Formats: sequence, C-alpha cells, structure tokens
Amino acid sequence: MSKPLGLVNRILPFSAVDGPGNRFVIFLQGCNFNCVNCHNPQTIGVCDVCGICVEECPGEALQIKASGTEIEWNKSRCLRCDNCIKVCPSDSNPHSQWLDVDFVLEKIRRSASFLSGVTVSGGEATQQPEFLRELFHSIKTDSALNHLSTMIDTNGSAEISIWKSLLPFTDGAMVDLKAFDNQIHQKLTGNSNSQVLQSIQHLQKAERLFEVRLLIIPDLNDHDLMLQQTANWLCQLSNNIRIKLIGFRNHGVRPEYSDFLEATPERLDEIRELFQGFGIQEIKVI
Ligand code: SF4
Ligand code: SF4
Repeated sequence: MSKPLGLVNRILPFSAVDGPGNRFVIFLQGCNFNCVNCHNPQTIGVCDVCGICVEECPGEALQIKASGTEIEWNKSRCLRCDNCIKVCPSDSNPHSQWLDVDFVLEKIRRSASFLSGVTVSGGEATQQPEFLRELFHSIKTDSALNHLSTMIDTNGSAEISIWKSLLPFTDGAMVDLKAFDNQIHQKLTGNSNSQVLQSIQHLQKAERLFEVRLLIIPDLNDHDLMLQQTANWLCQLSNNIRIKLIGFRNHGVRPEYSDFLEATPERLDEIRELFQGFGIQEIKVI
C-alpha cells in the first residue's frame, strides 16, 4: 500500500524554537482555525487552483498542471518575490507541495545526527493525521532515527480519536490556548475552544502535554479575571504544567490586524507573576 502524502508548506532543517533542542520542522499547509494573530497566514488555506497567481507571477514560474488539480512551481524560474502569496485570495501558497513520507524521511536522515527531534507544525498539523502518523511511526521504527523525539505543534482542535491514533508514536504536543473564555476564543480564532480544552486534558492525562502556549493580546485576551480562571484550570490539571506566555507581535500578521496592541515586557511579567501565584513554576515568556 502506498504511503500517505502530506501537503507541505515548507521544511526547516534546523530550529531551536519549535520544541526542545535542535529540531527538524515540517510546516503543513492548511488550518481549520483563522487566527487574528497568525504570522503565516499563507499556511491557512488549501489551493483551489483558481489560477490567479499563475497570471500574476512575473517569473512565469507557475502553471496549472495538466490534471487541473494542482499548481506546478518551477523553482529555477522563481524570483522569490512572494507576489503569488500576496495575490492569493485563499490564504494559500502555490509553493506548497505534496510530499511522500519516504522523501521527508530521507531529508531527516541527512541531518539526524545533529538533531534532538522532529516537530510537525502548520497550518494545523493534525488536519493531516494519516501523514503525521505514518511519519512518526516510521521514525520510531527506524533504528537510525528512533533517537529523535516526535512533537506536534497544534491549535488543539483534533478530536480525541485522532489523538489516540497519534500518541503511540508521539512524544509530546505543544498546544495553543488563545483564550479560556469561549466567546473571546471565537473572536480570535473563529472557533470554539471546547475541543482545545478537551485536547489539553487528554494530552495531560496521557503524559504527552509538553506545553500550553498562551498568546497575550492587550485588551483582547489579557483580562486578569480570565487569566486567573486559566491559571486555576491549568494548575488543577497539574502543578508541573509547562506554560509559554507569548506576547502578540504585529509583524507579519494580515494588514487588518496590524494595529492590535503589542504586549509590553512589563505586562508579560505581571502575567507571569499571576500564574506563579497559582503555583505554576515552569513559565517561559517570549
Ligand atoms: S515568488 Fe511566486 S510570484 Fe514570485 S516568481 Fe516565484 S512563483 Fe512567481
Ligand atoms: S495558490 Fe492561491 S492564487 Fe494560486 S491557484 Fe492556488 S488558490 Fe489560486
């Protein structure tokens, strides 16, 4: 049986910020959330082959494949101007490619001796569970690769059945919680937080919750009352829970969100102290 393909936005052979240690990172294309803070909005959509970028490409590097179902990108003609990304009405990227697991494994193999692990990010990694499962299963059953930890960077929206199918081959997940209040979460992501909270609980019970990432956007999701409720809920899951406080930065976000306030270091320090007051000690602020 052929191995599943993954729609890959890009691959980063080395990263120090996508999980513990030195990591090989695969960014998958397509996300089921539409977050106001997204710094890679071109990873949200999946191409519908509208052809607009083909017309607007100054390097004539793009064409619609004969099948009519995909865009073909000629890297050698590409001017790296990103015009295709700017004109895409679907928040997609014609440079994304369907890659098979063996191709990605071969790339990992080349740098395996310098790596601590592999992280799959997005987009939303769990939107392509078959690819993710096959990739992580292949890593864990390969004697030259099984020293690598396998981590998922996720918005937490996957159903528990998806987590159950992934966790036998997954060492940890880093989960975003954009807001504990559901209405605010809806406003920031376009989706309910109910499944996100269930995912965090499930991952914690399964001892696969590496960290919860809390984005802080002044005046939108940094009200003390909600942060106290968040801290209370998290510390009841575990006092050893690891938290990352991420101050909103407007660099790279879509123009309509670029005037949102950025979190100051002083405000992030106050929030760190608030969480410490609930007994949570492992808090990283970035
Ligand atoms: S970045 Fe996009 S628009 Fe620019 S030359 Fe390359 S394919 Fe064409
Ligand atoms: S990448 Fe965007 S603009 Fe280009 S064909 Fe796909 S949907 Fe259309």
